[in-house]
Amino acid sequence: MAKYIAEPFKIKMVELIKMTTREERIEKLKAANYNMFALKSDDIYIDLMTDSGTGAMSDAQWAGMMMGDESYAGARGFSKVHNAVEDIFGYKFAQPVHQGRAAEKVLFPSLLKKGQISISNMHFDTTRGHVDLLGAIPVDIVVPEARDTKSYAPFKGNMDTKRMEAYIKKVGAENVALIIMTITNNTAGGQPVSIENMRETRKIADKYGIKVIIDAARYAENAFFIKQREKGYANKSIIEITREMFGYADAFTMSAKKDAIVNMGGLIGVKDDEELFQQVQCLTIPYEGFITYGGLAGRDLEALAIGLYEGTSVDFLRYRIGQVEYLGGLLKEKEVSFQYPVGGHAVFLDAKVILPHIPYHQFPGQALACELYIEAGIRSCDIGSFMMGVDPKTGEQMEAEMEFTRLAIPRRVYTQAHLDIVAEALENVTCNADKVKGYEIIWQPPVLRHFTSKLKPIE
Ligand SMILES: *Cc1c(COP(=O)(O)O)cnc(C)c1O
Repeated sequence: MAKYIAEPFKIKMVELIKMTTREERIEKLKAANYNMFALKSDDIYIDLMTDSGTGAMSDAQWAGMMMGDESYAGARGFSKVHNAVEDIFGYKFAQPVHQGRAAEKVLFPSLLKKGQISISNMHFDTTRGHVDLLGAIPVDIVVPEARDTKSYAPFKGNMDTKRMEAYIKKVGAENVALIIMTITNNTAGGQPVSIENMRETRKIADKYGIKVIIDAARYAENAFFIKQREKGYANKSIIEITREMFGYADAFTMSAKKDAIVNMGGLIGVKDDEELFQQVQCLTIPYEGFITYGGLAGRDLEALAIGLYEGTSVDFLRYRIGQVEYLGGLLKEKEVSFQYPVGGHAVFLDAKVILPHIPYHQFPGQALACELYIEAGIRSCDIGSFMMGVDPKTGEQMEAEMEFTRLAIPRRVYTQAHLDIVAEALENVTCNADKVKGYEIIWQPPVLRHFTSKLKPIE
């Protein structure tokens, strides 16, 4: 039996959610042209589209909001964020920004020039986008275990360091400007990266004179996995592990909408390179606003400084990752296929296995998301060929390596009973899987089509 780890909090404010009928959901989905992003959240019962900015802030964070100092320059909240970054990550410099992609936009021009290569365990899509925008080349070198959805490996998010070094030698170290370690590895399904792998990556980077940065959205979940799974770390605190991990990098970018449990916010951290930090400050002012607020209100800075710590609580992380593992456990009992082991923030359903009769060009991941909405009002999203889009050169539909439907769990929002409903709904969907239809696109924009495309079922 899957075990649920009880919430390390109690509830003192609630948001009502609407129950809809199956007939209503069929109509709503049709009106949304079968695109999850076009559904109104009022028509959703359990929203597992993303864990980004969807968490519930604590009473301490809300109290912090009331204490926010809205001064244009030198606001108290900035000092609190700066002190938290120094304490948790061991970095000398911190620059708040409005979200993770803004951190990329501000930091990357100082590190990457046109034609240079950025190596990552896996670039997150906005990270890849900012590398592309600078005319640089993003290259993913994740370990091969990441592609194996069936067998256990403790750190499927790791960089394949042997292949990385061979690649650096092949293209010439002078052409590689940056190594980006994404922790946890979101694109690989929220899979963690080990300290040992980080250390090895740093060693190789030093050998060839390459900078290392961390894409730090899930710094605390990653540290919790290290505490649980890596030899020698069981008795270390999340902050001790985080400091060691970040000690191997030169800088980080962070979407604070994940582990820092705020609804909007981001950060750049620079370990000790004052010149780099000055460049960051120079670009922050035109892009994000003055350096002591960086695109955020004073109250947001307060909530962020508090959330950075709350995210590192072991009791919270045990429950948080426990929720994802619980849902995985239920699905295993019901023989619903998903990527194993589950990541820190989401369960990735294996739509290729669940809907074997739907070919990639009819979007099994999207078909499963539609069916799950009709079945129980649950919103998920496609991470497969529908998201992948068409080849920019040939205009042909590309085939994704995996066809996933992602169930991302917001932090401190849903209860055990909600997860039970998700598992039951999926059991029902898989029982009638052969009746699920594929989809075709009837309208799409030229880029990032999954947000706005219109689809229809293939009769
Ligand atoms: C969410 C995320 C980002 C982008 O952050 P936003 O706050 O959405 O702009 C970058 N990298 C990773 C790994 C993320 O999960």
